[in-house]
Amino acid sequence: MKAPSRESPEPRKSISSTPLISLPFSVPARSLPVSEFAKRMKGLLALKARRKLDALLVVTEVNRYYFTGLLASNGALLVADGPAFYTDFRYLIMARACISFMPVRNIWRAADEQSALAKMGKGWRRVGYEGTIDARRLEALRKALPQVEWVDVSGALAEMRSVKSPAEQRALRRAVRANDVAFSRVRELVCAGMREWDVRNIIRREMDTIGQGEAFDTIVCAGKNSAECHHHPDETVIRDNRPVLIDMGVKLDYYCSDMTRSFCMGAPSPFYREIYRVVLEANRKAIRAIRPGRACADIDAIARRHIEKAGYAKYFDHSLGHSLGLEVHEAPSFALTCKTILKPGMALTVEPGIYLPGRFGIRIEDVILVTSNGCEVLSATPAEA
Ligand code: ZN
Ligand code: ZN
Repeated sequence: MKAPSRESPEPRKSISSTPLISLPFSVPARSLPVSEFAKRMKGLLALKARRKLDALLVVTEVNRYYFTGLLASNGALLVADGPAFYTDFRYLIMARACISFMPVRNIWRAADEQSALAKMGKGWRRVGYEGTIDARRLEALRKALPQVEWVDVSGALAEMRSVKSPAEQRALRRAVRANDVAFSRVRELVCAGMREWDVRNIIRREMDTIGQGEAFDTIVCAGKNSAECHHHPDETVIRDNRPVLIDMGVKLDYYCSDMTRSFCMGAPSPFYREIYRVVLEANRKAIRAIRPGRACADIDAIARRHIEKAGYAKYFDHSLGHSLGLEVHEAPSFALTCKTILKPGMALTVEPGIYLPGRFGIRIEDVILVTSNGCEVLSATPAEA
């Protein structure tokens, strides 16, 4: 919530400042406690020691945010003798106010990066970097420090982010809850005659009101469009007794939610009901099997086998789910190729689907949190048809 401006101590209520949705919980402060970042920095220093690095450079926006709490389009976290954050003039005030736990230094414009690194890194031999940066930037780094062996640590950083701390779990819970609230509001408003675009616009408006907007491009499918897994909403009209699929996620306090619900505007056909039952059972079976110590691939296989037994194997050709947090797609995934072992604190989606081209598609997606002896389903929107 925005604080009232100093110029108008008693702001008048306007329609635009009245939330369309009142959330059943108070919106928390935007930032996590400093102790949270201290813990993350400890992890980063341990990684540097483990991989025998002289320095470690974090430049992607999401990882910079993860380690500093500062959202800025430019900057670099450099851990050499100690950690320091570099950014340019535009973000200095914000950075110094936000990052109290390490020095903040001017300047890190793209043009200065090469010369700054060349000066600082004369004695470096092994430097950790994120393998996800673009090739041009890596080329510039190599030119700045030609003697350095560049070690990709992006997998290790993703692994750190995969286990959510209690504070992150709280943020995730709030985002999922907000998404449930937004969905129930949208579900009340959706009716036959609306276009997919209309529904998508309502969803966007609700998400902008209760959070930081969409965590990803909302998917609204009417009728046979639901057979396209990632359909882009268009002018297709929602009709009576025809399927609808909505896949939506709100971002709240920088954490993403993600949920899909499939339903019919009126009475579903017996065939729709039958497919719905298979997908829901696949979702529930997978969720019941989730617990620490199990491989992600096993959970995918459980849902896949169920759909296969029902005779629809070739109509479910995407992974069962993905982790989520600061980004909507994080590692690890419930995929046949993912050997990661589940740990308490991991948060993933479970989203089996059956897509019948020319007819309809059904996907049921929930967010789960791995606990010490199983998992908790965070999504509270009922999925039972
Ligand atoms: Zn989704
Ligand atoms: Zn998803």
